[in-house]
Formats: sequence, structure tokens, C-alpha cells
Amino acid sequence: MLEYKSKWYDCTLHKVDRFFASSQTCSKCGAKNPKVKDLSVHTWTCSCGATWNRDENASLNLLKQGKLELGIR
Ligand SMILES: [Zn+2]
Repeated sequence: MLEYKSKWYDCTLHKVDRFFASSQTCSKCGAKNPKVKDLSVHTWTCSCGATWNRDENASLNLLKQGKLELGIR
């Protein structure tokens, strides 16, 4: 049951990723940083002062966005 759920959730997150600039968007304030599009950028600091690890920020965004899409609170 748990495995099924996580697979389904994973799948949904990938779907979200296709049209959502997850790594470029600050998961704290929502500002976009186009410089992060460059895959060599691993960490970046947003204008709001938050410092992000690219993957960490992306997963936070996807989690947020995925929950939004699915209507999970
Ligand atoms: Zn920010």
C-alpha cells in the first residue's frame, strides 16, 4: 500500500516537473532565478536571502506544487 502510494506520488511529481521551473524558483518566496537554468549552478542565493542547494530547492518546490495539483493539504 505504501509502496503503491509513493510510486503514484513520484509519477505525479515528474509530471509536474515538465512544465514547472522547479530548480529556478525560490521555494521560500517564489522568485525566479533564470541563472539556475545552467546545470553547473549547484547552490544559489535568492534576492530574499535564502540560500539553496539546487536539488533541495527543486524537491521542495515539487512537493509544494504536487500537493497543490493533487489538492493535498
Ligand atoms: Zn526567495
